[in-house]
Amino acid sequence: MSVSFDENTENFIKARSAAGGISIGPAVVIKTDSKKISPTAISEEEIESNKEKFCAARDLLIHELQKMRGGLQDKSTSEIIEAQQQIIKDPEIEKSVFEIIEKKSLSVDFAVYETFSYFIEQLKESGSELFRQRIIDLENIRDQYVSKVCDHDVEVSIPDNAILIGSKISPTELVSFYEQGASGLVLEKGGITSHAVIIAKSLGIPCLINAEKITKKIKSGDSIILDGNEGGIVVNPSEKILNDYAEKIKGVKVSVRSDHTNEFETMDGYPFKLMANVEFEAELPRVAENNAQGIGLLRTESLLFGKKLRKDIEDQEAFYTAMLENVSGPVTIRLFDIGGDKNARRPYKEANPFLGWRGIRLLLDEKNLLRSQLKAILTIAGKYPGRVKLLVPMVSVVNEIDLIRGEIEKMQGTLLSSGIPIDEDLPIGIMVEVPSVALSSFHFAKKVDFLSIGSNDLTQYTLAVDRGNEKIHNLFQHYHPSVLKLISMTVKGAKKADVNVSVCGELAGDEVGAACLMGLGINELSMVPNSLPEIYDLLSSRNRNNLVELANKAVDLSSSEELEELFREWKDQTA
Ligand code: PEP
Ligand code: MG
Repeated sequence: MSVSFDENTENFIKARSAAGGISIGPAVVIKTDSKKISPTAISEEEIESNKEKFCAARDLLIHELQKMRGGLQDKSTSEIIEAQQQIIKDPEIEKSVFEIIEKKSLSVDFAVYETFSYFIEQLKESGSELFRQRIIDLENIRDQYVSKVCDHDVEVSIPDNAILIGSKISPTELVSFYEQGASGLVLEKGGITSHAVIIAKSLGIPCLINAEKITKKIKSGDSIILDGNEGGIVVNPSEKILNDYAEKIKGVKVSVRSDHTNEFETMDGYPFKLMANVEFEAELPRVAENNAQGIGLLRTESLLFGKKLRKDIEDQEAFYTAMLENVSGPVTIRLFDIGGDKNARRPYKEANPFLGWRGIRLLLDEKNLLRSQLKAILTIAGKYPGRVKLLVPMVSVVNEIDLIRGEIEKMQGTLLSSGIPIDEDLPIGIMVEVPSVALSSFHFAKKVDFLSIGSNDLTQYTLAVDRGNEKIHNLFQHYHPSVLKLISMTVKGAKKADVNVSVCGELAGDEVGAACLMGLGINELSMVPNSLPEIYDLLSSRNRNNLVELANKAVDLSSSEELEELFREWKDQTA
């Protein structure tokens, strides 16, 4: 059945499609700054119960931190947790919270938020680097406190099939809404490789971006048809359009499933691997459904930025174990890539976060965080020998590899001396996200076991275009010939060093990108699981020579538009 809407449809709002599919449901307009707590007045009678809630939350937090400390062998991490406990027990905190509740008659969640925010501001102003580095911890304690004292859960409950409407959303919030039944996402901001959009694709939620002033045009409860294929929504549609779309959805759902087998080779028998990019446990069912041959990129930042902080070693191990138990094949675990757009709570403001304290740069300064993650990953690698690979984000100079290798070896030594088995052959690789690495790839490749090209960041750094900025979204062109040239140089350097190269950016899950990458000699692609069937169908129905010819022409073109044109012709001719 062919049904769609356009500018002439009543109550139609156009937006840019970022993830395909169709959803129908009630709008839920989400607030962007969910962390900020507003003052709420309480009555005289509520003062005592608010103070009691504070005391109960404090005891619970101290107890949880004590439990966390019990499971730690690392002395310095344990000392940090002890310091956090001291902060929570500090009588000044209680004094300030009680004063706000009693004298200003304001609720306990606001009293806690206000008290901690005051101390955080003081630390920020202190100018001390040591104090500044503890601000993230203080903000975490504050957020945990607030969620514990809140009567209502911080989570907003949403109706089934809700279409989320917002200015922006964090990946963690999106997953939490998805688990409650959200079925679509419409955002004012963001680019096609911003993180919430990548997760929406991975979860199979249709998503639109660049929907101008959408939060002003729609109110919660409005009935919405979201067409992620056509790039638009209809607000409060007529019964006819609604019925037509309900029919259309039935048809779409049937055709999404993949039925390919585990044979991954081109028509002339050249083998390739298709892997999945994963960040949340909620994505795992799609990995198996789409026959991924493993996890090519496990993003780990959700452990730090989720509602529940999961940076202690036990929680990390549980997360990695869930991945290894639910997926067959290798699992490439990437170290925390904090910074850039992946840090909701920065300890201080940077003029250029994407060019700043990010990925490996931050980890090499934040040794406790790095070591706790290494300990968890290396322990798990020892339990699943041959299945874990370790990936280092945002490398830009060779020396960073020496430094991280030093840390890894030290941690392996510590584990061995405590009788914990390790995987002696654990492959260590780096992301190729910065042009310096692509241009000098041989020198980087010599020092590692594999390279994984992050085309999202490589594109943003090559074309000087912020990947999440909707104003310049048309300049984010990940298969621009200049990006492909850098990838081709990466492959040549890696070949010389006899090191494997894969791609885990969104380019790998894009038809044009995947075909060119294979043609450039990369035979391992990692992508959001839902893209796998389409890419499999494309690559398995072509000969290797076809792909090489396409790539050779592509790198010499002058623009993405030319490449799109070339690809269209090539696809028809080689079908
Ligand atoms: C990339 O940069 O292409 C990548 C895969 O990493 P992320 O999207 O997490 O920055
Ligand atoms: Mg990246």
